[in-house]
Amino acid sequence: MKKIVVIGCGAAGMLAAIQLARKGHSVTVLEKNEKAGKKLFITGKGRCNITNNCDEETFLKNVVSNPKFLYSSIYNFNPEATIAFFEELGLRLTTQRGNRVFPESEHSSDVIAALTKEMKRLGVEVWYNTCATELVYIQDLATDNDNYEKSLIKVKSVRYRQTDVKNSGELEADCVVVATGGMSYQATGSTGDGYSFAGEIGMKLVESRPALVPLEIKEELCKRLMGVSLKNVSVCFEARVKGKTRKIYEDFGEMLFTHFGVSGPVILSASSVIGKYMDNGIDMYIDFKPAITKEQLDARILRDFDASSNKQLRNAIAELLPKSLLPEIIAYAKLDMYKKVNEVSKEERLSLVDALKHFKLTVKGTRDFNEAIITQGGVAVSEINPQTMQAKRTENLYFIGEVLDLDAYTGGYNLQIAWSTAMNVDIKE
Ligand SMILES: Cc1cc2nc3c(=O)[nH]c(=O)nc-3n(C[C@H](O)[C@H](O)[C@H](O)COP(=O)(O)OP(=O)(O)OC[C@H]3O[C@@H](n4cnc5c(N)ncnc54)[C@H](O)[C@@H]3O)c2cc1C
Repeated sequence: MKKIVVIGCGAAGMLAAIQLARKGHSVTVLEKNEKAGKKLFITGKGRCNITNNCDEETFLKNVVSNPKFLYSSIYNFNPEATIAFFEELGLRLTTQRGNRVFPESEHSSDVIAALTKEMKRLGVEVWYNTCATELVYIQDLATDNDNYEKSLIKVKSVRYRQTDVKNSGELEADCVVVATGGMSYQATGSTGDGYSFAGEIGMKLVESRPALVPLEIKEELCKRLMGVSLKNVSVCFEARVKGKTRKIYEDFGEMLFTHFGVSGPVILSASSVIGKYMDNGIDMYIDFKPAITKEQLDARILRDFDASSNKQLRNAIAELLPKSLLPEIIAYAKLDMYKKVNEVSKEERLSLVDALKHFKLTVKGTRDFNEAIITQGGVAVSEINPQTMQAKRTENLYFIGEVLDLDAYTGGYNLQIAWSTAMNVDIKE
C-alpha cells in the first residue's frame, strides 16, 4: 500500500483517487475549492456530457492535440467502460444526439455526487480549501541542476496552504498525481498551477491558449447582427502560411453572431484548429447557401427576380435569408436594397451570389481563457510515459487530465480524456 497524494478534485483527480483506492492505496486528495468538481458542475450547460458513446477510433479522431499519446489510455478505459463505471456507481445514463452521454437526470451534480460518494466509501480523504503550493523533492534541485537531465528525481512531499483556517503544512507522499486542470474558467479553480509544478523541475511546457472558444471579428457588422443564429452554414478559414494563403479549417453546421464576433458549435470547433495561426492573419468565409452551387443560387435568384420584377431588391429576395441579415448581405455586395429588381444588372446579381457564397470576415483573435471550454497546450506529452502517466524523469510523479497538452472537440471527448488518463495511472508496488 502506498501513500498517494492527488492534487485536484476535478474529473481526473476523482477518478484517479477512486481507482487507486480500489487497488488498496491510501489516497488523500487536495482541493483548493470548498467542494469537489466545480468545473464538472458547469459542464454541458449543467447537464454534464460525460462521454461520447463511440469506439476508440472515433474518439481518437475527435482529439485535436496528441491523439497518439492517448492510445494506451483509451484502449485501457474506453467510453463503454466509462458508461459501465458510472452505471455501477448507480448513475442512470442516457445517450442523446451525436452519441453524447448524459446522466438521465441531466444534472451534473449527480455525477459529482456519485464520485464523491464512492471516494467516501473507499476511505479517500479529501482536504478541501487546501491549495498545493509546492512539490518537495529528495534531491536539492537548486544544487543538483546539472544532473537533473540525467537523474531520476523523487517527490518527497507536497507543501500546501489551507485557505479557510490560514494554515500551511507539508504532506509526505510515496507518489503524487497532478490533476490540476488547465487555465480556462479560472473561477472553477483551474489556474494553471500544474504547469508551475512541471516547470519547476524543467519539464517542457507547450504554450497554452484558449480553445473551444468564440472568435473576435474585426468587422462591426457582427455587433449589428448580435443574436442572429444560422443553422446550416458552411465556414472556411484561410491563413497566410509560409507566404501562401492556405485553407486551415472548413466545417458545416450552426453559428451565431455576438457583440464581439462569432460563436456557436462550428466556430468553437474551428477555434481549436485555427488558434495556432492567429499571428498569421486569418480570414473567415461564410457560405450561407452551402447546399447549392453558385450557378444554382443564381438561377434561384433569377426566378425570384422574375416573380417580382417591380419589387425592391430587399423584398424580392426576402425568403433567402433571415430578415436582419438581408441588408448586411446587400450592403456587402455594394447594392442598393431599394433598387427595383428589374434595374439590377447581371453583374450586380452575381455580386449578390458572391456575397451569399463567400462572405468574408477578418478574425481578430479568440476570446480569453474565461470563455474557453478547454485549454490547448500544457505539460508536453513527450515528458510523460503514456502507459503509466508517470513523468519520465521522476520516479513517483504523475500527470493526468487537462493539465497535459491534450484537447478534443466538444461531444464528451474532453471528459473522456480526463477519465481515461486517470484510469491509466499505474503505480507499481
Ligand atoms: C463551460 C464548460 C463546459 C464543459 N462541458 C464539457 C462537457 O459537457 N463534456 C466534456 O467532455 N467536457 C466539457 N468541458 C471540459 C471539461 O470540463 C474538462 O476537460 C475537464 O473538467 C478536465 O478535467 P480535469 O480534472 O483535468 O480538470 P478540472 O476539472 O479543471 O479539475 C482540476 C481541479 O484541480 C483543482 N486545483 C487546481 N490547482 C490546484 C492546487 N494547486 N491545489 C489544489 N487543487 C487544485 C481545481 O480547483 C479543480 O477542482 C467543459 C468545460 C467548460 C469550461
